[in-house]
Amino acid sequence: MTTERLGTAARPLRVAIIGAGPAGFYAADALIKQKDLVCQIDFFNRLPTPYGLVREGVAPDHESIKAVTRVYDKVAAAPNVRYFGNVTFGRDIFHEDVKQLYDQIIYAVGAQSDRKMGITGEDLDGSFPATIFVGWFNGHPDYRDLTFNLSHERVLVVGNGNVAMDVARILAADPEYLAKTDIADHALEALRKSKVREIVMLGRRGPAQAAFTNPELKEFGELDGVDVIIDPTEMELDPVSEASLADDKTARRNVELMRTYSEGGSTGAPRRIVMRFLVSPVGVIGSGNRVAAVTIERNQLKQAADGSLKAMGTGNYETLQCGMILRSVGYRGSPIPGVPFSDSSGTIPNVAGRVFQDRDEVLPGEYVVGWAKRGPSGIIGTNKPDSVSTVAAMIEDIPDLEGIADENRDLGAIENLLRSRNIDFVTYADWQILDAYETAAGAAQGRPRVKVTSVAEMMEIIRAGREA
Ligand code: NAP
Repeated sequence: MTTERLGTAARPLRVAIIGAGPAGFYAADALIKQKDLVCQIDFFNRLPTPYGLVREGVAPDHESIKAVTRVYDKVAAAPNVRYFGNVTFGRDIFHEDVKQLYDQIIYAVGAQSDRKMGITGEDLDGSFPATIFVGWFNGHPDYRDLTFNLSHERVLVVGNGNVAMDVARILAADPEYLAKTDIADHALEALRKSKVREIVMLGRRGPAQAAFTNPELKEFGELDGVDVIIDPTEMELDPVSEASLADDKTARRNVELMRTYSEGGSTGAPRRIVMRFLVSPVGVIGSGNRVAAVTIERNQLKQAADGSLKAMGTGNYETLQCGMILRSVGYRGSPIPGVPFSDSSGTIPNVAGRVFQDRDEVLPGEYVVGWAKRGPSGIIGTNKPDSVSTVAAMIEDIPDLEGIADENRDLGAIENLLRSRNIDFVTYADWQILDAYETAAGAAQGRPRVKVTSVAEMMEIIRAGREA
């Protein structure tokens, strides 16, 4: 074993990043910007396409948010960064492979699952997590073959976060507005045929406790052909909620905007978004196997010992007919093979980004960033300081790190391993072939891109491009 210091030209730090979403890219960016650190970074990503939730989560009509991918492209273009797409951790490569070939590993795997409401009838046909509806309209290969029945008039959306706002807006929007975006073609076609006229959002707490932000709420009022309906009595706040607005600018502006909407009422527009507050679904009612209605219970707010306001059922019930229910009550992490996972928090257990096994056994050289680290919160930019702080821990740990064996430092080892397993990995240059294909198809239709949604088709385009 060499005695050279790790992170020097004689012994560059080898880093594997599992997951090429925003958190992973910000971690790579922080590493390549370290003064006096020589490193070599390899990304492994399950899909051939990079960018994680920027491609598969950000709503199609939020094009300007997606411009952040230019920053990620710059990171990927660094000479010491490589991209291995179409490689699934836990199926194509394993924890033990990565431990052998990399001094440090960063898990940037996000939160791949969704939270449940825990009510009867939740699994009936027509009841879905909003996360998969988002994946479907964004052309995520896992959800492209799903069909959502939109041949009825009313959809219920449970939750008051920005994901709920996105799904409500996409369902209510004029399809011709969406036709100018990179929405998946299959979703556009289904939305063009949609008979849905009313989207009812159900918030378990009041307007002052909504988790969505001002721009998303403002967008509701700007949708052509859509009325935003709020019963003015639901805008009457209890004294604690009213007082809480004094030092919460976002909530204050939200309440102001919603008061304006509540005063507007119906103009007879063809579609409507109805915002309801202080209500919780308590059971989904089926007709046969399909969702037909939802029983909701009226709530009141009770102050908990920590000062927060919690929703408590009042025993007053109501039934709302609907043809589909989308629960948008938060994402949740999923375990990945060989890596610790906390079932209670749905994250990889860590302290300041250092992965922990059990209570206090730190796993040397293993780190976590993004939603897998802190849970599903914050906007894309939140991941930057989060990743920077994990990278600071990684740098601090280098002097104590043993590092991998010298015979495993050959840069070609990982490519040989993947080839020996018949994995047709996608490089960044390969992704750029697909990117060019999608944007050219988009330009022909006056859209930013037309997404290819099947992995097989993506690989066909990439292989043809490689040969050319
Ligand atoms: P979120 O912001 O955490 O909102 C979850 C919502 O679900 C809250 O209103 C919560 O209410 C409600 N909820 C939780 N459990 C519930 C239950 N059992 N019954 C009824 N309601 C329940 O989560 P998200 O919307 O999934 O978004 C995740 C993150 O991505 C957020 O930070 C969000 O801002 C971000 N995001 C941003 C954008 C954007 O910038 N445009 C777009 C999409 C997502 P309580 O408050 O009462 O718990």
